[in-house]
Amino acid sequence: MSIQHHPGDDLLLAQAAGQLPMGPSLVLASHVENCARCQAQLRLLEFAGGALLEALPEAGLRNDALARTLQCIDASQSVPITPVQGPPPLPAGTSWPRALTGCAIARWRWVAPGIHYSRVQVAQDPDANLFLLRIAAGKYLPQHTHSEREFTQVLHGSFHDGRAQFSAGDFDATDGRVHHQPVVQAGGECICLASVEGRVLFDGFFARQLGALMGM
Ligand SMILES: [Zn+2]
Repeated sequence: MSIQHHPGDDLLLAQAAGQLPMGPSLVLASHVENCARCQAQLRLLEFAGGALLEALPEAGLRNDALARTLQCIDASQSVPITPVQGPPPLPAGTSWPRALTGCAIARWRWVAPGIHYSRVQVAQDPDANLFLLRIAAGKYLPQHTHSEREFTQVLHGSFHDGRAQFSAGDFDATDGRVHHQPVVQAGGECICLASVEGRVLFDGFFARQLGALMGM
């Protein structure tokens, strides 16, 4: 896997600090688990963050600090860790990201000729807008932009959106400054994991109906 597009240091830093919401965090984690470069960068940022914390002057703890910490640990352990539930089949040679362990993935749902969609339910955050898109060779998503951030990780195949080509293993972050039309390459279908905050703003009437079908 030759990865060309990585998350920026600002996103890796937010991930290291636990500041990303669950949906974007899972898309980023799906990239990092297969990218040696981002794993090394994330370790470096975590180390730098730890060193920064150590350099800070000591602050007094609240009286209930220990109880609150234990409560947080209890809460995190009560989330069951189960394999990806009910995932639809993937093409040979492609596997589900380990980051999605514990998530429930619905079966592929037809939304337009050559375009299938599947919602990913995150146990820890039922409101996370996380989904999979499966688009056939030569097909495209209608021209659109975003009201807020969209993170995409390519799991299989490749697409070109006028800015660059994104292939399996690549990560992309877009927002309202990017107006694009992802076109799947002729060689085969493309499957992406995506997280959308806010809304996807499609240009045309029929595209907006398509967006409504996907709950966007
Ligand atoms: Zn990377």
